[in-house]
Amino acid sequence: MLTNRQVFLQHIAQTSTAPLLLEIERAEGMYMYGTGHKRYLDLISGISVSNVGHSHPRVVQAVQEQAAKYMHLMVYGEFVEAPQTAFAKALTDILPPSLDSVYFTNSGTEATEGAMKLAKRVTGRTQFIHFRNSYHGSTQGALSVMGDEYFKRAFRPLLPDILTLDYGNIDDLVQISSHTAAVIIDPVQAESGVTIASREYLQKLRALCTEHKALLILDEAQTAFGRCGSMFAFEQYGIVPDILLLAKAFGGGMPLGAFIADRKIMYELADNPVLGHITTFGGHPVSCAAGLAALRVIQDEKLIDQVEHKGRLFETLLKNPKIRSIRRKGLMIALEFDSFEQNKKIIDSCVENGVLTDWFLFAPHCMRIGPPLIITEEEIRNACEVILKAISLV
Ligand code: PMP
Repeated sequence: MLTNRQVFLQHIAQTSTAPLLLEIERAEGMYMYGTGHKRYLDLISGISVSNVGHSHPRVVQAVQEQAAKYMHLMVYGEFVEAPQTAFAKALTDILPPSLDSVYFTNSGTEATEGAMKLAKRVTGRTQFIHFRNSYHGSTQGALSVMGDEYFKRAFRPLLPDILTLDYGNIDDLVQISSHTAAVIIDPVQAESGVTIASREYLQKLRALCTEHKALLILDEAQTAFGRCGSMFAFEQYGIVPDILLLAKAFGGGMPLGAFIADRKIMYELADNPVLGHITTFGGHPVSCAAGLAALRVIQDEKLIDQVEHKGRLFETLLKNPKIRSIRRKGLMIALEFDSFEQNKKIIDSCVENGVLTDWFLFAPHCMRIGPPLIITEEEIRNACEVILKAISLV
């Protein structure tokens, strides 16, 4: 008889040649529990997903109650489903008035796809501007605006009319023009190893998009829901995007994404062609119920108020000459080492000692620290001890 690990390797499609291969039996709060009762402190939140921790009781309850009422009823956009309307109302209540129409999707990449189609419809243009080392998803539209040729090369041809700029270079922004349908950008680039845009840069970008009537698509798949110290990162930059992308933590641990825009422009998708952008499962009622419960947890437990303090504690404790630099926005942190090999050894040692961490897609020499926002000071101290010990061994 095959073990679960053997079945995984033989019958589950592989995404890399070196999967982590942890086998987890249950997860609760800050911890995952592996086979053999091994406990892991989660420092990566399933990659920016578990902001309220694993299986938060209020999220579990919302899932159970909604699953017992109804699951799938009809394709998206036809029936009035209370979990969707309640969540859309809660979101639009806390978003600026121009972001008042929510198109729910199943994932982040679908949010990107929808936003790109909407930008084409609204502007009648085809050019997309994106940035080196950005990740917006793996489907072919999103892949077209992936900021690394290595990941795109094998899948070309992709979308034409794509312009790639250096993230953070304010002079490059003059390339936004009357040909540009949209500029897609993350307020903080996660996968480059936490690269933080300046306020001046994002404000200039906003102004140029407005001037040239190009849409500004802000990808907050990783940065929203408190991760960067505010509900949405854009709040800290004094800008409002034309289209906001949400995913990851949005569903409270269930699959969910969205692109959100002004009703007036979103309505373009309703007609000519009718049903021009549709999805069977987008905004699944159980995912929406979970997402709303998670949002309420963030608000009721005032999790965002503690983010900066907790982030700073990591930064203060993680001092070692082998750490080349620390980049941080709230509880999104990158520790930079000399090489992937060194980083990998440190990560492996942390995992061995019960602290789960990882590297970044475009920055394999950087360690990812992005724990659930519920992490306690004591857990931060314990985690940092394990990380520093691992560093001392390489
Ligand atoms: N945008 C960003 C910034 C992301 O980090 C990701 C996923 N890593 C996506 C989009 C795509 O989300 P998904 O994996 O749900 O398609």
